[in-house]
Amino acid sequence: MVKNAIRANVKHKKRLICLDMDGTIYLGNQLFDGVKDIFKYFELNKINYVFLTNNSSHSLPFYVDKIRRMGITCSEDNFYSSIDTTIKFLQKENIRTVYVLGVTSFKEELKKHFTLVDEASDIVPEVTLVSFDTQLKYDELKAACLYIQKGSRFIATNMDYRCPIENGLYIPDCGGICLTIEACTNKKPQFLGKPAPEMLYQVMEKFGVSREETLMIGDRHYTDIMAGINSGVETVGVLTGETTKEEFLSAEHQPTYILDSIADLIEILEK
Ligand SMILES: [Mg+2]
Repeated sequence: MVKNAIRANVKHKKRLICLDMDGTIYLGNQLFDGVKDIFKYFELNKINYVFLTNNSSHSLPFYVDKIRRMGITCSEDNFYSSIDTTIKFLQKENIRTVYVLGVTSFKEELKKHFTLVDEASDIVPEVTLVSFDTQLKYDELKAACLYIQKGSRFIATNMDYRCPIENGLYIPDCGGICLTIEACTNKKPQFLGKPAPEMLYQVMEKFGVSREETLMIGDRHYTDIMAGINSGVETVGVLTGETTKEEFLSAEHQPTYILDSIADLIEILEK
């Protein structure tokens, strides 16, 4: 439950709250207790919030719909994904030709900005981009390995090795697919999503806020908390997801704050 009253017009140092979703505000389709009050508080106090997701297999409308159904007001501006991060990064690097391991919706998005080559191309693409490809075929994996060995830059949307599904089971995520390519090519990918700092750098730029004005909240130490630490912003580790208090406390880089649940966030914001 929210311990503090919901007050408006409180002076805040933080102007942008960056949030993980699964394990931080909900589990499955169930919002945690007190979460709606936190978003009410953001709204009343004009604090911006943005959900950061490493998952490139869903488009933004999918997430807007999911979060709205749970009763939280949001628009596409409240989301920033590893897809946005990747497009912006490749544009800044002046990349034109890309070979993609990714789902159809991810490829469609990239096609708007880059020339995509297929697995039978004579041209070696400047970048071979790996993502959470739930439609992956062996010939595509083979082509990625061949392009990288011929000099294509090995870039990946996110480091997550596995993605949780129901009943405590997991399926291979982007980082897991990259391990296969690494084993074949002896090359390591450059990862762009959390914990790399690019995603947070880009959202701070988008919202026009400084590191001091930003807070990163999440349940996973190696992605969420490290993304905050790597980009120089304060972090909150919540105990509603994957990481235990002992694990947060024994990590080399600890979060700035540890909370039982995001419902206790106001204590920190009003400090
Ligand atoms: Mg999470």
